[in-house]
Amino acid sequence: MTTQQKRFLLPENEIPTQWYNIVTDMKNKPLPMLHPGTKQAMKVEELYPLFAEELAKQELNTTDRFIDIPEEVREKYKFYRATPLVRAYGLEKALDTPAHIYFKNESVSPVGSHKLNSALAQAYYCKQQGVTNITTETGAGQWGTAMSYAAKAFGLELAVYMVKVSYEQKPYRRSVMQTFGSQVIASPSMSTKAGRKILTDHPTYQGSLGTAISEAIELAMQTPNCKYVLGSVLNHVTLHQTIIGLEAEKQMAMAGEYPDIIIGCFGGGSNFGGISFPFLRHKLIDNKDIRIIAAEPASCPKLTRGVFEYDFGDEAGYTPLLPMFTLGHDFAPAHIHAGGLRYHGAGSIVSQLKRDGLMEAVDIQQLDSFKAGILFAQTEGIVPAPESCHAIAATMIEAEKAKLEGKQKTILFNLSGHGLIDMAAYDAYLADDLSNYELSDEVIRRNVDKLENNLPTT
Ligand SMILES: *Cc1c(COP(=O)(O)O)cnc(C)c1O
Repeated sequence: MTTQQKRFLLPENEIPTQWYNIVTDMKNKPLPMLHPGTKQAMKVEELYPLFAEELAKQELNTTDRFIDIPEEVREKYKFYRATPLVRAYGLEKALDTPAHIYFKNESVSPVGSHKLNSALAQAYYCKQQGVTNITTETGAGQWGTAMSYAAKAFGLELAVYMVKVSYEQKPYRRSVMQTFGSQVIASPSMSTKAGRKILTDHPTYQGSLGTAISEAIELAMQTPNCKYVLGSVLNHVTLHQTIIGLEAEKQMAMAGEYPDIIIGCFGGGSNFGGISFPFLRHKLIDNKDIRIIAAEPASCPKLTRGVFEYDFGDEAGYTPLLPMFTLGHDFAPAHIHAGGLRYHGAGSIVSQLKRDGLMEAVDIQQLDSFKAGILFAQTEGIVPAPESCHAIAATMIEAEKAKLEGKQKTILFNLSGHGLIDMAAYDAYLADDLSNYELSDEVIRRNVDKLENNLPTT
């Protein structure tokens, strides 16, 4: 029997030196973000009060196809990158599928998820500009954890607003953030106007990413020498995450294959865009035949059931208006365990790609996601993050199709993180304490009907 290669590793000198800016290759560019007051396209200077200048420039960059990764950031990447590309022989065998399944293992980052790829970059640009304090939000705690470590690595003080339900369900993630030296506040809190308002209106509200973002922005605006950082949705975040796909591109070549299908789980789009955009560029430029699929939770289905409209990125309406598939910025998602996917909207690049039919989306029920995650754990030895379980479930659907059609497809998915700090979620699943959430059309309509129409009329 010939031995089959299972892991594809890149030497340090092969780690990409640039990130990929997909906007430059899109025929239909994303619509611009709008100033909520004037409804005019945001100018880069208008983003400076909130974001580090270099990040604001990256956010609006439509001209540079590749953007250099600063040497200081690359040095930090080298502690865990390149991450392995793994052929999932165990899962293939269990599924009895002719599909070849590969996954990019972002769970090996020191903090356990892909989020560090952008956290390090954002901390670096803040530091470089002389910023001393930063604020952010976190859902399940993955972004807050990554940002806490990155802030410490670059000598910044960080305050994290953590969605209350996760603060209570996932105390260990809070402990990790505190271990890295950041301050963690359960959101909604009484420390901001946005928090006080929602607590007065709904005293038992368990929080959402949208509310936590509002609180973090408010604190940043009131604190001298302070900027706000965000872990998903925005273009510059996804830009930083393209290192995942750029590495995977080289590693798939080492494996002698090219993916027919690329899958990522979907919260705001950063790991999905990160793994898929470098491959999608071959479709945009060379008409390469690939399918890219975003796997979102059925309880928060902005891509499959939301509307395309201008909406705020946060609950209180402090952010610019973003062109997005959205469920409405005050949509309160069910308390599923995949906290990182409980966000109402999709990033503007992904939203445009979806409109143009360049990508697909599938919604996954909570119970199916854990069933998939457990099969993956048992066959590959890694307990996946509840978010990543959605990508695995979508991969299983495609592997099953390949089997029915008798076709050898090559599937690549992103394992965005491990679930070792999410065992309360697995406990609940194993104890039969979890359920699916049905979201009625009526609830979606009620939320999106509140949105103003700001789309261009042509
Ligand atoms: C935050 C997170 C996600 C969702 O965020 P995206 O920006 O959509 O990638 C997915 N998986 C893990 C492990 C996360 O921490």
